[in-house]
Amino acid sequence: MGNKDSMEFNFPEANLVKGTKLFEDCINIVVGKGNPNARILFVGEAPGRKEDEEGFPFVGAAGKNLDKLLEKVGLSLDNVYVANILKCRPPENRDPLPEEIKAHTPWLLKQIKDLEPVAVCSLGNYATKFFLAGGDVDLMKDQPGITSVHGKPRQVNIGGLIFKLIPLFHPAAMIYNRGLEPLWEEDMNIVKKELSQNKLS
Ligand code: URA
Repeated sequence: MGNKDSMEFNFPEANLVKGTKLFEDCINIVVGKGNPNARILFVGEAPGRKEDEEGFPFVGAAGKNLDKLLEKVGLSLDNVYVANILKCRPPENRDPLPEEIKAHTPWLLKQIKDLEPVAVCSLGNYATKFFLAGGDVDLMKDQPGITSVHGKPRQVNIGGLIFKLIPLFHPAAMIYNRGLEPLWEEDMNIVKKELSQNKLS
C-alpha cells in the first residue's frame, strides 16, 4: 500500500503530478525527507526503485553515498531537506521527459516557497539545468552542465520566487568517480559560507 491516495496530497500542484502516467505506474509519491525547517534544500532528479518502494528520496545507493558525504562535512539530515524534480519514479529509471518535468516541478517550487531555504543545492544536471533555465523546461537543453557550474552560487528568480542556487555534483556520480569528493567538500564550504552570511534567516 503506497501513499498515492493520501488526503495530504489534495492540492493543485499534486493534482498536476496525478495527471501523469508516472503517477499511475509508481507505488509511492516521493515528496521529501530530512528537516523541514532546515536552511539547505537538496534537489535531486527522480526516485529510483528503492525510493518508490519506501516513499522517501535517496534511500538507495545514491542516498547511502549522500549520507556519507554529509557526514564528511559535519552535516546530517537534521541540517538539510531533500526532494527531487520528479515526485514519481520513471520506468527503469529512464531520464525525465520534458512534459514530466513540466508537470512535477510546480510541486517542487511550492516546496521551495514553503521551506524558504537559504540555499537550494541542485544535485546533478537535471535539477541544475531546470533552475538555470529559470524553470523554463524548453530552455534546459541550452544550459551549461554541472562540471562547469558546480559550487558557483547564483540568484534564481522563477516567477517571482527568488532564491540562492548552489549546484553540486550528484551523489550517484560520486560513487563511480571518487575524484569528485574533494570538489564536493569545497562546494559544501561555499554552501556553509552562504548560511553563515544569512544568520537571521
Ligand atoms: N537519485 C535522485 O536523484 N533522487 C533520488 O531520490 C534517488 C536517487
